[in-house]
Amino acid sequence: MKYLIDHNTQLIHKTAYAGDVCGFNETPLEQREVSQDTYYVDTLIKTKNYAVCEYCYHSTSFVLE
Ligand SMILES: [Zn+2]
Repeated sequence: MKYLIDHNTQLIHKTAYAGDVCGFNETPLEQREVSQDTYYVDTLIKTKNYAVCEYCYHSTSFVLE
């Protein structure tokens, strides 16, 4: 699973499910980071007050990467 980290809004998206509704298109490219490191993402959430995106993070569709 790949994550898209928006450092501007401090939101974590899943790239497989992220879309226009997520709003990160308004975030400058240099403020976005793509990572596959679940531990890193977890750390951001637990220690930096990052939140998961309500639109894509909990998606349960069966899209395979
Ligand atoms: Zn999202």
